[in-house]
Amino acid sequence: MDEKTQDERVRFAPANRPPLDPVRVGKAMDLNVHRIDDDHFRVYSSRNEYHVALRPYYECGCGDFVWRNHICKHLIAALLWDGDDEARTIADEILIGDE
Ligand SMILES: [Zn+2]
Repeated sequence: MDEKTQDERVRFAPANRPPLDPVRVGKAMDLNVHRIDDDHFRVYSSRNEYHVALRPYYECGCGDFVWRNHICKHLIAALLWDGDDEARTIADEILIGDE
């Protein structure tokens, strides 16, 4: 992958997002989400809270997103609340698999 500036690393356009990771979707389903406005969320994990943006860029302060360039579980939690088709489809498959 090309060298990225820090700025590009922590915010990138939704259109460029990689496929969502089903393991992270499963974890995202257990997180508490507070919607601040249409595009911004506060997502709570057991120990921390993260500010997440979906538009105009994806943003989250966690290491998974900032350093490993994954769509992290916090972003996915916000996407689930936002009604994102891919996130919902994967979450539905996980729920069906649990039955
Ligand atoms: Zn995150």
